[in-house]
Amino acid sequence: MDENPYLHSRRALHLRFDIPILKTKEFWDMLRQGKLVTTKCLKCGNVSFPPQADCPKCMGSESEWVDLGTDATLVTFTHVKITPASFAEDGTYTIAIAQLKSGLKVLAWLEGVGAETVKPGMGLRIEARAGTGGSPYYVFVPA
Ligand SMILES: [Zn+2]
Repeated sequence: MDENPYLHSRRALHLRFDIPILKTKEFWDMLRQGKLVTTKCLKCGNVSFPPQADCPKCMGSESEWVDLGTDATLVTFTHVKITPASFAEDGTYTIAIAQLKSGLKVLAWLEGVGAETVKPGMGLRIEARAGTGGSPYYVFVPA
């Protein structure tokens, strides 16, 4: 009887996927212009981030775009030293969760601060970045 019923493969898997963004296209368009916006439900007033096509609180599908704000406070972070294959070319990096003035907590990469100086409670700012290949993204940087 086989003690190890697994097939091990050393093949690298490459995934390519398209994410439909029709109902959140405004977010991506604004991000390309360097602005961060998100959705506010017109039915219950819930503000979500990332922007949601439908409100996760009341399931309403009517929303308006509101400014996300840029000032944040670092809640927690982790330094990623062993990177997944898809981020191997980026080297080590830091992922942070920070709370915006609105109370929303946002997950993003943290740039511009070394492992020895990053501390929960420090002031951060969220910024839009152009990205390579036309895909904009956002990061935290020290305030
Ligand atoms: Zn709602």
